[in-house]
Amino acid sequence: MLKYLLLDLDNTLYSCHYGLEDNVLRRIQEFAAAFLGITPEEVQRQRMVAEKQYGTYLEWLMTEEGFTDVEAYFAAVHPPGEVDPLTPDSELRAFLAGISVPKAILTNSPREHADMVLSKLGLSDIFTHVFDIRQCGFLGKPRREFFDHALRTLNVNIEEVLFIDDYPSYVEGFVALGGRGLLLDEDDVHANGTLPRIRELREITRYIS
Ligand SMILES: [Mg+2]
Repeated sequence: MLKYLLLDLDNTLYSCHYGLEDNVLRRIQEFAAAFLGITPEEVQRQRMVAEKQYGTYLEWLMTEEGFTDVEAYFAAVHPPGEVDPLTPDSELRAFLAGISVPKAILTNSPREHADMVLSKLGLSDIFTHVFDIRQCGFLGKPRREFFDHALRTLNVNIEEVLFIDDYPSYVEGFVALGGRGLLLDEDDVHANGTLPRIRELREITRYIS
């Protein structure tokens, strides 16, 4: 029985075409480049090697490169005004509010970013919990620790949860633990994968009835 919806935040609650996440990624790469003293292109290359082991740039930098100034990282990656392009989404709000199953956010972003996004979209009161990157020692998706932390807090078993995210590796991580996951694939770019896919959140009704 479905007891909780667990949703990613960025590029899941709003369209990837806003470009917010692209800008976040660019700032992450610029920050990492400055810290490591290399070019953003070289950061990308090194990151591709480390991607299998570390789900986030932050975990990679902390574990492999001795990075510690996490708050400076968050400040650089999430500057003021970054969510300005977003506008209230009353249709999504009505859709989510109409689903009786409780809903929570699981994001690899810091809480203040999540709060800004939810506020801009007009969705702040839709979710019972926001699980952010600080809550589990900066371990994010797809780490088992982060999923387990959320499930424990929500007091549910993994089979009782439907998880939706736009990153295949994060959905795969949840599925590997025995959960049900949906890949939000707005532009059909993961058609060759094996994960169940939806192109917009409204399609989750097929999976929760
Ligand atoms: Mg996302």
